[in-house]
Amino acid sequence: ALTIAIVGLPNVGKSTLFNALTKNNVLAANYPFATIEPNVGVVNLPDARLAKLATIFGSERLLPAPVSFVDIAGIVRGASEGEGLGNKFLANIREADAIAQVIRGFADPDVVHVDGAVDPAGDMETINTELILADLQTLEKAVTRFEKDTKGRKLDPAVLQTALAAQAFLDAGKPLSASTIDLEPIRELGLLTAKPFIYVFNVDEEVLQDAEKLATLAALVAPAKAVFLDAKLESELLELDEEDAAEMLASTGQEESGLNQLARIGFDTLGLQTYLTAGPKETRAWTIHKGWTAPQAAGVIHTDFQKGFIKAEVFSFDDLVAAGSVAEARAKGKARIEGKDYVMQDGDVVEFRFNV
Ligand code: GDP
Repeated sequence: ALTIAIVGLPNVGKSTLFNALTKNNVLAANYPFATIEPNVGVVNLPDARLAKLATIFGSERLLPAPVSFVDIAGIVRGASEGEGLGNKFLANIREADAIAQVIRGFADPDVVHVDGAVDPAGDMETINTELILADLQTLEKAVTRFEKDTKGRKLDPAVLQTALAAQAFLDAGKPLSASTIDLEPIRELGLLTAKPFIYVFNVDEEVLQDAEKLATLAALVAPAKAVFLDAKLESELLELDEEDAAEMLASTGQEESGLNQLARIGFDTLGLQTYLTAGPKETRAWTIHKGWTAPQAAGVIHTDFQKGFIKAEVFSFDDLVAAGSVAEARAKGKARIEGKDYVMQDGDVVEFRFNV
């Protein structure tokens, strides 16, 4: 499943954010058989198209695309050397598709900062340094192994070359995501700084309304994406009904909750998109990578759909909504029959035909 690891220094608001994520656990209600791990929180990707389709098809329920977040224990300076929980947590991050780094921006003097002062740039540096050091350790071990295997002609020399290039890059103190090295040959190493990064600034409510401050923080992490939220406010929002929550959000100058932003930006950062299926039972969003073909997309529903793929009947969401029904859309010539080479577009409404 698609997962984003949440990392950050202690006392930056990770647990507060994570509690909001787990409280928001709509997945459990929607997927009765899904087991939810205690350290996994899920946010539905907000998608206004689902409700419109559900009206057209008279669907009983809506199933948006889930985005999972895994809580990782706090990183402290020296974690890569075994400080705090040390290396164990690094293994958990290795399995995630992306990393969301929570950074403290709230002032509250009652909450101690591990390094003495609220310093977003310094905190980022501490975390990034630990991740770089962890990658260097991984590479050091791997290079020894790769050298032996290359000499013994058991390994493509490109693997060793790539590892050495990555090592040199990290030695200069920069994360691999900033490099142009093709890391494919050493993908199995799961290097942390090669993963896509999202920065989550946990700030005070006033800061959320201060465009200038937000721009300064966003500039710290560009070109990576930044999400700004107030973790305390997020958990309060979840206690309210939809209308009151919208009102409270508006009063802080926001249009969308931080959790929704996080899901949306996480999705984008990972290069994902959704296609839709609809019927009387449910209207559902399915997660695929941008550029996937129709059979690959069908495989997300069931591997048999991919194996036995014949064709797909595809409507653009806008066409279908304009027509008001499948029959009318077909009559207007808006139904496309697509074959196995068709590249899926965001918001395609699809019915697959397949052999079993
Ligand atoms: P973690 O160690 O990163 O998991 O941080 P916690 O979520 O446990 O938060 C540490 C302390 O900061 C707790 O006392 C929280 O109530 C407080 N805290 C978290 N987020 C905010 C925030 O947005 N504003 C304020 N004022 N306090 C916060």
